[in-house]
Amino acid sequence: MYAARVSSQGRETDRKARTRAVAQRKPSTDVGRGTDTPASWGMGGGQQLPWEYAPAPESRDVVQLKSRYGLFIGGKEVAPRNRQWFTTVDPATEEPLAEVARATVEDVNHAVTVARRAFRRDWSTLPGSERAKYLFRIARILQERSREFAVLETLDGGKPIKESRDVDVPLAAAHFWYYAGWADKLEYAFPGRHPQALGVAAQIIPWNFPLLMLSWKIAPALAAGNTVVLKPASATPLSALFFADVCRQADLPPGVVNIITGPGEIGLAMVKHPDVDKVAFTGSTAVGKEIGRAIAGSDKALTLELGGKAANIIFDDAPIDQAIEGVINGIFFNQGEVCCAGSRLFVQESIAEPFIDRLKDRLSTLRVGDPLDKNTDVGAINNAAQLAKIEELVEAGQAEGAEMYQPACDLPARGWFFRPTLFTHVAQSSRIAQEEIFGPVLSILTFRTPAEAIEKANNTAYGLSAGVWTEKGSRILSMVSKLRAGVVWANTFNRFDPTSPFGGYKESGFGREGGLHGMLAYLDLDGGQ
Ligand code: NDP
Repeated sequence: MYAARVSSQGRETDRKARTRAVAQRKPSTDVGRGTDTPASWGMGGGQQLPWEYAPAPESRDVVQLKSRYGLFIGGKEVAPRNRQWFTTVDPATEEPLAEVARATVEDVNHAVTVARRAFRRDWSTLPGSERAKYLFRIARILQERSREFAVLETLDGGKPIKESRDVDVPLAAAHFWYYAGWADKLEYAFPGRHPQALGVAAQIIPWNFPLLMLSWKIAPALAAGNTVVLKPASATPLSALFFADVCRQADLPPGVVNIITGPGEIGLAMVKHPDVDKVAFTGSTAVGKEIGRAIAGSDKALTLELGGKAANIIFDDAPIDQAIEGVINGIFFNQGEVCCAGSRLFVQESIAEPFIDRLKDRLSTLRVGDPLDKNTDVGAINNAAQLAKIEELVEAGQAEGAEMYQPACDLPARGWFFRPTLFTHVAQSSRIAQEEIFGPVLSILTFRTPAEAIEKANNTAYGLSAGVWTEKGSRILSMVSKLRAGVVWANTFNRFDPTSPFGGYKESGFGREGGLHGMLAYLDLDGGQ
């Protein structure tokens, strides 16, 4: 008894000391990151430094945009049947970038017919080693054209150039490299089975990671021997249309990859098409459910990667500096427009106050603005509807009694921007703790024990991802086994690798993308029997 009391007091003393240490530790003084509030550099006494970062804009000239883009069907650019077009805009300036084809149901029928023919005649008859060569070629071309794709992705989507340059494009290429490696090894990947391609895949992708989501879908489908008809989101169609050019450059047989642009109803026509064997969708839970209903009763294979409301859990023994960066990366990467964003932060009560203070300091160092500027941390919100949704949920958070914090920072006069925001005193039942905001908004809650953290973290309709920060390995293992999330990161967040499967539970969907699991979704394992 006595020993137990001593040790529990010891823990208590440790905790208090740690709390004090967290409070006293100075924010990072890495001047390379720059800041609007020099006091937060730990220079003492709020001393003002008289300089600001000079703009470092990436050149737009590496991207040559045409005024109008058709559909990509059968290896050719074709005009839509009804000759209708829509405009895609730059969210940072609201300026038009190009006109894009608005496909009709006849165009969808045409694309599926062409994809079926390419599957039968060319792609399914090629040995895996030959398919692999095309995938390797695509990977190499993406790397060669990486600067062009990075600028394009930033122009059309509003994401900071440093993210499209360092994350989106390299990871997209990595997926083609990785799946190229599997194309001629399917029998070894699934020993004792007889893997066969499913046929034609209809793939629908969202606007938050257009090129990366395309590669998550096209690379495993092609490696497994399927042909595809892919529809990008209407807000960000350009990188898929530039990818069509990569397919031409790689001499991919016509019809193996087809790109259709147009509204959601065209996506629905794709998934309902009777000659489609496999449907892969990433986007909102509402549309995912609609797709599920639309193909229920058919024998189409389906994978759904939907929304999330990830818990990022910080224990009092966590490496605090890394945890602060992990929280920032978890919610402000890509403006928080990430399905697995760490949008709910759970901090152990004993360190909550100093941790939140540190977080506020770090928030004020984020540079919000021109996405093409290499110094920008938070770019433009992808589209006006999304900005309106963020604003509405932030107002709801305030109305429900949560306390809002936003750093003082100027937003550009034009374009769709939103300040990095955090909320404290958030109730579990609050809309900002339950609904996917899909923006740079963090809801902070606290917990006392691991059991309470699990209970609160799992109290969500979603189950896509989570993060745990602690020095204790055994605690990580215990938490990971109890968190209902498809991916749980330990002492890191938002890490992706083509070899690692990704996907959710509950309202976050089902099926996995990435890794060997990602191939499974495009194979009939006993198809050869
Ligand atoms: P959607 O789910 O509407 O869009 C995703 C993709 O599905 C787009 O290509 C879209 O086309 C297409 N689509 C839309 N309606 C249908 C349909 N009925 N049948 C087939 N395809 C369809 O997402 P939103 O762009 O409307 O974003 C709304 C919310 O969804 C966001 O606020 C966010 O919470 C969540 N979201 C989640 C994502 C994730 O990665 N899990 C990604 C994007 C959004 P089109 O663009 O032409 O409408």
